[in-house]
Amino acid sequence: MQDNYKYSITNAKQFATEAFSRLEREGLPATPDLFELFFSYYSDNNSEVVRSIDIMVSQNFELTYDRCIELHRRLLNSDRSQETLAKAETIVGSTLADVDGMVNDVKSSNEDFSGSMDKINKDVSSSVEPEELKNLLSDMMSETQKMMSENQALEQKLEKSATTMQTLKKEMKEVREEAYTDALTGLANRKKFDLEVVRLVSESRDKSEPLSVIFMDIDHFKSFNDAYGHQVGDQVLRLVARCLNDSLKGRDFACRYGGEEFIVMLPETDIHGAEKIANILRETIKSKEIRNRATGETLTRVSISGGVALLNNDEDPKEWIERSDKALYQAKRKGRDRIEKSE
Ligand code: GH3
Ligand code: MG
Ligand code: MG
Repeated sequence: MQDNYKYSITNAKQFATEAFSRLEREGLPATPDLFELFFSYYSDNNSEVVRSIDIMVSQNFELTYDRCIELHRRLLNSDRSQETLAKAETIVGSTLADVDGMVNDVKSSNEDFSGSMDKINKDVSSSVEPEELKNLLSDMMSETQKMMSENQALEQKLEKSATTMQTLKKEMKEVREEAYTDALTGLANRKKFDLEVVRLVSESRDKSEPLSVIFMDIDHFKSFNDAYGHQVGDQVLRLVARCLNDSLKGRDFACRYGGEEFIVMLPETDIHGAEKIANILRETIKSKEIRNRATGETLTRVSISGGVALLNNDEDPKEWIERSDKALYQAKRKGRDRIEKSE
């Protein structure tokens, strides 16, 4: 664990004190996760943590519990995944050793059984006395009984191993899903996007199908946050995510790319189709009435701008996304609340 931290041990107490007083000042609970986040901040051992907190402060973001937990999960949680992986490795190792042992047990019990049967077989051929035959039969019965109960014990052990492996598989799946999900909106995150681009681009090329992308960004979101607060801003981000989820279907992929930026990839869709869908999304989001949950007050509606681009033959996927970003920039420049195409 110590290796993960590069702070000086002699200053650890000072960092801990700073972290505690910061939590107190922000009105945050001193849970292990939040403490770790601010300890990490004050000990300056993770540049992403320092950068993210500094940006939040400079943009007057309130350091809410949810936001800090999200930061912790995103920036410091790799240790948790490592822990789960290490645990998985141990469990897989010991289960394999168990199974190995069981295979050996089966082998030797099979050998014993067939040895006993061979002997009985020989004895049967040489003996004629009914009493002797009776004894041999009884030996055979008890050997068979022994074999059956060994098999039963083995079955139980195998069942236990199978259950352990099933639980592990489920846990690993949960960790993976968590790592690919944006905590605030529940949409796929950028890490997932990086994987999906590769997958969808190669799929579209294999099938010679068009693939389009929409790069979207909420308009004047900074002013919206400034006017209504970041809690309400977060509510809007969830609303946009919900609109994307509700409007898209099939193989379409939507993710939160960054702060208030979203990317949608549309397989089997040409540029005109993509433009149409982008405009539907834009209209849908604009049509939503936003209420401040705390006060009940109806707020200014939000609009989005978007850039669409069709993947060209042999084009580097990075360039394709950059073209959609440039088209988005054009949409912003031309007055926002609109969609522009990259030709
Ligand atoms: P533009 O129309 O040019 O896109 O203007 P903008 O204000 O939306 O763009 P700018 O890039 O200046 O500001 C983006 C703002 O998005 C800054 C920040 O307040 C807000 N933002 C980013 N991430 C989050 C978040 O997780 N929650 C909330 N509430 N706001 C966020
Ligand atoms: Mg932006
Ligand atoms: Mg914006």
